[in-house]
Amino acid sequence: MERYDFLVIGGGIAGLTYALKVANYGTVAVLFKKSVEDSNTSWAQGGIAAVSTSDDNSALHASDTEIAGVGLCNKSIVDLVVTEGPDRIRELLSIGVKFDTVQNKTGETTFDLHKEGGHSKRRIYHAADATGSEIQKRLLQAVRDHKNIELFSDTSAVDLITTQKIGVEKSQPNRVLGAYVLLPDGGITPFIARTVMVATGGAGKIYLYTSNPDIATGDGIAMCFRAGTPIANMEFFQFHPTCLFHPQAKSFLITEAMRGEGAILKRTNGEEFMHKYHELKELAPRDIVARAIDHEMKIHGEEHVLLDISHLAKDKILEHFPMIHQRCLKFGFDITTGPIPVVPAAHYCCGGVVVDQHARTSIKNLYVAGEAAHTGLHGANRLASNSLLEALVFSHRAAELRISELKTKDKANETLKFNIPQWDPGQAATSDEQVVVTQNWDEIRRAMWNYVGIVRTNKRLARALRRIKNIQSEINEYYWNFIVTSDLLELRNLALIAELVVRCSIARKESRGLHYNLDFPFKDERYLKDTVIDPEWLKL
Ligand SMILES: Cc1cc2nc3c(=O)[nH]c(=O)nc-3n(C[C@H](O)[C@H](O)[C@H](O)COP(=O)(O)OP(=O)(O)OC[C@H]3O[C@@H](n4cnc5c(N)ncnc54)[C@H](O)[C@@H]3O)c2cc1C
Repeated sequence: MERYDFLVIGGGIAGLTYALKVANYGTVAVLFKKSVEDSNTSWAQGGIAAVSTSDDNSALHASDTEIAGVGLCNKSIVDLVVTEGPDRIRELLSIGVKFDTVQNKTGETTFDLHKEGGHSKRRIYHAADATGSEIQKRLLQAVRDHKNIELFSDTSAVDLITTQKIGVEKSQPNRVLGAYVLLPDGGITPFIARTVMVATGGAGKIYLYTSNPDIATGDGIAMCFRAGTPIANMEFFQFHPTCLFHPQAKSFLITEAMRGEGAILKRTNGEEFMHKYHELKELAPRDIVARAIDHEMKIHGEEHVLLDISHLAKDKILEHFPMIHQRCLKFGFDITTGPIPVVPAAHYCCGGVVVDQHARTSIKNLYVAGEAAHTGLHGANRLASNSLLEALVFSHRAAELRISELKTKDKANETLKFNIPQWDPGQAATSDEQVVVTQNWDEIRRAMWNYVGIVRTNKRLARALRRIKNIQSEINEYYWNFIVTSDLLELRNLALIAELVVRCSIARKESRGLHYNLDFPFKDERYLKDTVIDPEWLKL
């Protein structure tokens, strides 16, 4: 059994920021499912949005965020994120994060701010096209330098431990006591802590095609839901229109800038199709492009479409897209001479565990920040580059609140007075049928892609729910009979997240933002509210 003051599950931008802020007030354990670099954060390309110039202001940033969110953003949350954002950027700079700079006409050095889709001003700080990797690297360095922080790689949280779960303090509100954790040697041990921060990131792996790395299986959302916290708005999954289609090129995004420079989308027979969907053709908004590609693939039964920029001069292509050119060559495609196969890919999970303005969940001392949280910032669609900012703001707020509580409260009240049971493996044996896990994993991701993807219908959603419930009953049987492995753990979480996405999608009987249902193709103001699922409700 391990004991810490703070247990941080996940070490991307949210978890590392939180760890760094609370470390002066107690011991901190940070868990990483794989290596310490493996996170969505490391992959973030575009940058991080925050107001900094004289022609910009918080009201404009708030308004851009709310327009993207199609009526579902929580206004007070949007306001606090955009107003506190600039301070959080300054903190990143203070730990050594290097954003790109330029010299202006008067020779003064300023930040080279980008403008992205949906932003009315230039406000995106970036480090070339590898902003997330720069942030992850600097945060990691800072946490490694702190004597109170211990890092555990290849270590997965399995489930949260709460007073309710172990049957103590029955007359008190449920509170978190730590988590059962799968260690690299395969053993499961309790990590006990007075405060738990869940910062496990997104859940793109529920879909067959995703821009997310392998760690993004929604573990934190699933764990919190099992422990009793409501989740919200899981129907709003953002899809990126173009990811390279190749078995070995999983997660490789083809930037939208390529369409900006003139790349054309075609069916596999060479036929262009974007003119049928929008007057701006390839330059239509991201959602429309993704939906058009999906539609073409579904009606023609094709596995991918093509993206072609080879009609431009070779020099120009190489000047603008050297990295994409190199990466595609590795998979046998030369963008200067022909088209490349692309598919849309699940990119960002707007929903998550319901938290308040301090990242607090409904369980005492349990916090969630980053992509795993539903704060109310994004509404029905995320504005580009707001997610890194959201993670910073809420990790900071969670840390501040907890630190002030710990300073004022009698700490003795919070120390653990009872024994935490060890993980009980029951009669579980080692499985020799890994194929069951692989098969179910594949089925979930295909069912989600085909039935709960970019364009949904009532029939497809009902079909998906039936499939997922079947798979879940198989997984449950398997889960209790065989020793828990990280694959099995992820499969159980994926299945639950898939179910939550389907249930939220079924509940929203309209089309809004990222949720598009052909049976309810328009917005309906009766649904101008979050889709909240309470675990108690699901048990009925
Ligand atoms: C290709 C790509 C480009 C993007 N570009 C941008 C961008 O330009 N701007 C922007 O704002 N956003 C961008 N995003 C989104 C953004 O990167 C993420 O939303 C953000 O990084 C999430 O941070 P996080 O700390 O919540 O989670 P992550 O960074 O994903 O970290 C999750 C951590 O949790 C750990 N973990 C997961 N499960 C467990 C478990 N069971 N036990 C222990 N540890 C666990 C993982 O190992 C990891 O350390 C992009 C995302 C992708 C995939």
